[in-house]
Amino acid sequence: MLRDTWAEISLSRIRENMLNIRKSLPNTVKLMAVVKANGYGHGDLESVKAAVQAGADYLAVAYLDEALRLRDAGIKMPILLLTPIRPEQVQLALKHRLTLTVTSAKWFSEMRAYKPYASAGKLQIHVKMDTGLGRIGIRTKEEWDELAMCLRAEDIEVDGFYTHFATAGQADTGFLEQQAARFAQMKEWGRASGLTIRHYHCAGSTAALRFPHLAMDMVRIGAAMYGFYPEKLACPVKLEPALSLHSRLIQVKKLAKGEYLGYDNAYRAEEDEWIGTVPIGYADGWSQRMQGTDVLIKGQRVPIVGKICMDQLMIKLPGPHAEGTLVTLIGAQGDQRITFAELAAHIGSVSQEVSTSLGARIARTYFDMEEERTAWDKQIWPKELNQAVI
Ligand SMILES: *Cc1c(COP(=O)(O)O)cnc(C)c1O
Repeated sequence: MLRDTWAEISLSRIRENMLNIRKSLPNTVKLMAVVKANGYGHGDLESVKAAVQAGADYLAVAYLDEALRLRDAGIKMPILLLTPIRPEQVQLALKHRLTLTVTSAKWFSEMRAYKPYASAGKLQIHVKMDTGLGRIGIRTKEEWDELAMCLRAEDIEVDGFYTHFATAGQADTGFLEQQAARFAQMKEWGRASGLTIRHYHCAGSTAALRFPHLAMDMVRIGAAMYGFYPEKLACPVKLEPALSLHSRLIQVKKLAKGEYLGYDNAYRAEEDEWIGTVPIGYADGWSQRMQGTDVLIKGQRVPIVGKICMDQLMIKLPGPHAEGTLVTLIGAQGDQRITFAELAAHIGSVSQEVSTSLGARIARTYFDMEEERTAWDKQIWPKELNQAVI
């Protein structure tokens, strides 16, 4: 590791979180581990490994290239693409045995130019229904009937039929109940069509944990696997964050009263002040929106001061500190802790925005309580992973 800023990721935490989710649901419910966006910033291959050890049956990612990365690493499990692909990409998806999300009959007729009826290989499909999120999916019975006709073809297998909730994390459950009722109605369309539909599913992390009766045949778990759950709700299972973020002071100096600090003179010392420089900035995902938050040094909270730069930020120190002193941006030092939830609240978003924003420039180091602490640069995971999931 060449740089003094790194994320530490506990594979045992990811595994434990997933095991606790697993235990909270009936055995018949399949577990889909959602590892899009590089496993919510935690590493996709490493997340898969931990999720598989905890009993995940399925994987999901958002995009085709994310799925191809997993296949290239030798992962053989079913992978659902949560976002539709372009019709002309169908042969590529088929070659890699990817399961596709389909949202219209129009897509099917366009796809047929690239996969004629008589061509080899069965296409695995999950149909996405829009019950109120308004993002992607079938909304009406007419659209469904038109699509269902296409799904009767010999080379199509309807592996799933699903929807996604808009308000699973809100205290008020009214809208979620409306969506669930709408989905129940749509499931009847599915049954009435006579098609064999293997899995009905609707719940992401929060819905699966809050409303286990909505788990159906499968739940899609992303956020909770990484220890994230809406702050305002009481979490019914034990979840712990798996990632902490650290750096080291690269310069310490004394600023005289009245001197400016950082771009645009945005900060001015009110007194003689000790200032430390930390090598992380907005190019690493530590956005200028993080201005006003704290970091930990020697077990104490200290504020970020001045504008956050692209590669560095400055903090106000209570006194002189040695260069090289550990700075924690997410995680604990002594009894002080900076949480994803606190940072997310500050930027008006959710924990997963903070974790997915952590840039590729930040090295990830992995450790496993039961195995030896392992450095990323030893690169032993992909090989082990192949063995774990074949
Ligand atoms: C990202 C995503 C999930 C995972 O949601 P979490 O709340 O992170 O568990 C589930 N389903 C769909 C359709 C998604 O896009």
